[in-house]
Amino acid sequence: MVTNSQLFERAARVIPGGVNSPVRAFRAVGGTPRFIARGDGAYIWDAEGRRYVDYIGSWGPMILGHGHPAVLEAVQKAATEGFSFGAPTEREIELAEEILKLVPGIDQVRLVSSGTEATMSAIRLARGATDRPKFIKFEGCYHGHTDALLVKAGSGLATFGHPTSAGVTPGAAADTVVLEYNNVEQLEAAFAEHGKELACVIVEPIAGNMNFVRASVPFMTAMRRLCTQHGALLVLDEVMTGFRVGLASAQGHYAGLIPGFAPDISVFGKVIGGGMPLAAFGAKREVMQHLAPLGGVYQAGTLSGNPVATACGLATLREIQKPGFFDALSARTRRLVDGLKAVAADNGVPFSADCEGGMFGFFLLPELPQNYATVMTTDKERFNRFFHAMLDAGIYLAPALYEAGFVSAAHSQADIDATLAAARTALR
Ligand code: PMP
Repeated sequence: MVTNSQLFERAARVIPGGVNSPVRAFRAVGGTPRFIARGDGAYIWDAEGRRYVDYIGSWGPMILGHGHPAVLEAVQKAATEGFSFGAPTEREIELAEEILKLVPGIDQVRLVSSGTEATMSAIRLARGATDRPKFIKFEGCYHGHTDALLVKAGSGLATFGHPTSAGVTPGAAADTVVLEYNNVEQLEAAFAEHGKELACVIVEPIAGNMNFVRASVPFMTAMRRLCTQHGALLVLDEVMTGFRVGLASAQGHYAGLIPGFAPDISVFGKVIGGGMPLAAFGAKREVMQHLAPLGGVYQAGTLSGNPVATACGLATLREIQKPGFFDALSARTRRLVDGLKAVAADNGVPFSADCEGGMFGFFLLPELPQNYATVMTTDKERFNRFFHAMLDAGIYLAPALYEAGFVSAAHSQADIDATLAAARTALR
C-alpha cells in the first residue's frame, strides 16, 4: 500500500510544494496532507484506506456529498455526448435560466470556469460599465488570485493597497482600496475621498475566507447606500455563499434583513458547478450588455459553459430545490455548531461558532470576531492541535483556522454525533 507520505514526497518532486493549491499542503497546521483516493456521500478515503467525515466538501461545491446518484447520472450522460465543443449548447441556456430563476435581481449571467475568473471579470465589467478605475475590497475577504485582488491594506486610509504576493506589481495594486471588514466609518471615509473614482465595492457577504464572519447589517446597509449615492456598483462575491447558505443565497438572506437590498453584480461558483470547474457572474441587462460581443468589455474562455460541468451544475441545482432541502441541511449544520459549543463549554474552552445553511465556522475565541485582525488573534497552536486530534479521529476539518467548514446533505445525525464525540476528546 502506498502511504500519504510517499505520495507527498513523490508529488513534491513534480508539483511545487506537492499540491496544486497551497492550503492543501497542510503548511498552516503541519503534518502530511491526506491524498484522497475516493469519496462517497459524507466520507472521503485517503490513499491508506482511512475514512474521514468530510467537512471541506472540496471547499464548498459538494453540497450533496460525493457521488450523488442524480448528479453522477447527468455527468455520465453528458460525458458520452462530448466533453467540449467551443460552441454554444442548450445546456448553458438551461443553467443560466436555472440561476436566474433563483436570483431575482439579475437578468443575465455569463458562465466561466473558476471563481477567480468570475470575480476578475466582474471587476473588469464594473470598471468598463462605470468608466472608473478604483475599487474597494476588504481585509480577510478572498476573491481569487487575480493581481488586483492580491492586495492588503496599506498604512492609513490615504495609501492604496500593497501586493500580498510576489509578482504583483505596485501598479496592479494601485487602484485597489483595502478596508477593514464591518467598519462603517472607514467605508464612509473612503467614499468621501475616492467616491468619484470608484467603479465598485467587492465583498463576501458572509466572509468564508476568514473562517465565518458575517457582514453586519449596518455595514451592508451603508455599503449599498454609498454605492448608489456615488454611482459605484456593489459586487457580491457569492462564490462560497451562493446556493450554500440558502436557496436565495446570501443576497436573499440580507434582503430579508435590509428592505430592498440587492447587489449590482453577483458572482457565483462552487455549488453551481457541483464539483466541476464552473462559476458565473450576473447582473441587470444594462450592466451585462457592456460585455463582448455586445460591448467593449472583453471576456472569454475555451472551456466556458463546458457541457459536462454545466450538466453537473444543473443536476446539483435541481436537487437543492427539492422541498425541505435547506431546512434539513440548516438543521443538521446547526446541530453540529450547537453541539461543538456545548462540548467546548463543558471543557471550559473559549469557543464561538456560527452557521448559515450548510456553511459554518468556529473559533477558539470567546466571541465571534467581526474582522480579520480579530480572527487572527486565535491561538494557532491550539487550533492546530485540535485539527490534528480531529483528523486522527477521522474528522476532516479545514486545515487552517481562517477557513469555513461545510456540511452536505449526505451528513447524517450519526456523523454529527461522531464528530461531537471526537471533539469532546480533542478539546479535553
Ligand atoms: N471568491 C470566494 C469567496 C472564494 O471563496 C473563492 C475560492 N475559495 C474564490 C472567489 C475563488 O474561486 P476559485 O478557487 O474557483 O478560483
